Amino acid sequence: MQFVRPEIFHVAATYVDQEEMEQYLQALEAPWSTDAANTAEQLIEVAGRLCYRSFKPGLNKNVSKVREGNQPYLTNILNSKHGSVLEHGSDSYIFFNVSRVFTHEVVRHRAGCSYSQESLRYVRLDELRCSYPRVFERIEDEKKREHIKNLWIKHFESCEALQLELAQTLDLDLDNKTFEEKKKLTSAMRRLAPMGLATSILMTANHRVWRHLIQLRTSRYAEEEIRMVFAQVFEEQKKCYPNIYQDAILQEVDGIPEIIFKNEKV
Ligand SMILES: Cc1cc2nc3c(=O)[nH]c(=O)nc-3n(C[C@H](O)[C@H](O)[C@H](O)COP(=O)(O)OP(=O)(O)OC[C@H]3O[C@@H](n4cnc5c(N)ncnc54)[C@H](O)[C@@H]3O)c2cc1C
Repeated sequence: MQFVRPEIFHVAATYVDQEEMEQYLQALEAPWSTDAANTAEQLIEVAGRLCYRSFKPGLNKNVSKVREGNQPYLTNILNSKHGSVLEHGSDSYIFFNVSRVFTHEVVRHRAGCSYSQESLRYVRLDELRCSYPRVFERIEDEKKREHIKNLWIKHFESCEALQLELAQTLDLDLDNKTFEEKKKLTSAMRRLAPMGLATSILMTANHRVWRHLIQLRTSRYAEEEIRMVFAQVFEEQKKCYPNIYQDAILQEVDGIPEIIFKNEKV
């Protein structure tokens, strides 16, 4: 067995074709530019301004003045809970070395979320990896702390030995088995794998969802692993998109950041 740490990889983000965007603005007869520092915030601003033709005063005769600047524009979007425009920007993350507990919880989020998860029907468990819960590491009594860690290691090692013995008994490594047969047997064997097993999941979601999930999953009432992972997601999102995440309020709870948004669930 091997101890690992959950990691996040921010593998994809929103792309804007600037030439096409320029052509749209010309078609609308609205020469306009933004100080947005990234394409997601640019696209969200365009989506909002498109709704009211508020690229410049007078383009829509009802609009006599417009907000200038991406940051104040997005402040207004968030304050007025015009959250649907946030759905135009999305990001993909690979959550690597997270447990099956994590993946089981995260896939409960449905609206605006897409997932691809490592299949344990196909992937053989010949080496079990896991992260060790921080809550056990924080036990003050050293003897108790070590005893629990030893129990954990013993259990994981015996689960790993069991997988290897099953594979050997079922002749999984011999060439006389088709891939289909191997898949069926691997799928049955995974039932004996522990929930703490490290695995990976690719998740794509839009900014309306990321905001909602960051708040729900960094909450002190959520599980520590998912809290730690979503605290990393928040840090990355805030760094990349300061205007979208501008209303975040952060405090540490049990050594992990807990994030709430002034404009909750936009
Ligand atoms: C701390 C914590 C503990 C949890 N504990 C448990 C538990 O013990 N057992 C358990 O089963 N689950 C548990 N959950 C999961 C929880 O019940 C939700 O399924 C999960 O948080 C997904 O919620 P969501 O708002 O992102 O839903 P999504 O399905 O992603 O929907 C997003 C939003 O769309 C709206 N929406 C979606 N579907 C509907 C609908 N049918 N009708 C009306 N509005 C809708 C809602 O506003 C919802 O918030 C827990 C979640 C958290 C954060």
